[in-house]
Amino acid sequence: MAGLVSGKVALVTGAGSGIGRCSALAFAREGAKVVVSDVVVEGSEETVRLIKSAGGEAIFVKADVSKAAEVEALVNATVSAYGRLDCAHNNAGISGRSYSVVEDTEENWDRILAINLKGVWLCMKYQVPVMLKQGGGSIVNTASDAGLIGVKRTGAYVASKHGVVGLTKTAALEYAKVGIRVNAVCPGPIDTPMLQKGTKRYPQMLEKMAAAQPNGRLGKPEEIAEAALWLCSDAASFVTGLAMPVDGGYIAQ
Ligand code: NAP
Repeated sequence: MAGLVSGKVALVTGAGSGIGRCSALAFAREGAKVVVSDVVVEGSEETVRLIKSAGGEAIFVKADVSKAAEVEALVNATVSAYGRLDCAHNNAGISGRSYSVVEDTEENWDRILAINLKGVWLCMKYQVPVMLKQGGGSIVNTASDAGLIGVKRTGAYVASKHGVVGLTKTAALEYAKVGIRVNAVCPGPIDTPMLQKGTKRYPQMLEKMAAAQPNGRLGKPEEIAEAALWLCSDAASFVTGLAMPVDGGYIAQ
């Protein structure tokens, strides 16, 4: 049986860990050739190894999404390797430090915004022209529940993810007539290295987060990957401009 993205070429950023790794594996499982990208070399090589050992095809291209020249080179490397770009999951991101609005530092603010928001813009800036040339494509950006609601002591992260949602909707409108769909996934708390690192100093926080979920548990990175895969696939051909919560019902409360 043909996979959901058979014969397509997919690019996933932040694919050396967590949600991005699961997304790269899901795209490969469903028949895409995958470009695995991240700043982290070891984790990304492991993602490629996992894809290949499951019979899929993938390469690793290192890129920092906050640097225009590196993102341009990443998209060029994708086209050089596989000839096209059909599906992009712009997922790389950081949580940064937790501060109130008053306590936050310029360094923390600039770093979070540069990676989480400017990084998504730069990815689309270089991906869309390739998709335009080939007559279509689809993009999924990783936002967050924090792109839809406020969260105390997380102002820069919340601002960056609200920015991703707004940018996603704008890009969806700009390219709807030319066959490029642009959507966002908005994960709730997902059990990944990012969440583990962010709560290391407060081990009871993970339990609290799980307890605050309507379904009483954290999400798994695979559950976000499946949503991103579906949004990127032709099964979602009439879906664009959506910021889709994948959060166990958290923001439905
Ligand atoms: P993760 O396990 O830390 O994976 C993110 C990957 O992106 C890491 O390998 C990270 O490297 C990499 N990265 C960081 N800065 C980068 C840059 N400038 N360029 C390219 N890659 C970079 O985190 P995750 O939980 O899977 O998060 C993936 C996305 O989901 C992020 O956008 C995050 O904001 C979003 N999200 C996560 C959750 C959650 O609860 N986990 C909830 C909502 C949204 P380093 O390890 O060096 O940082």
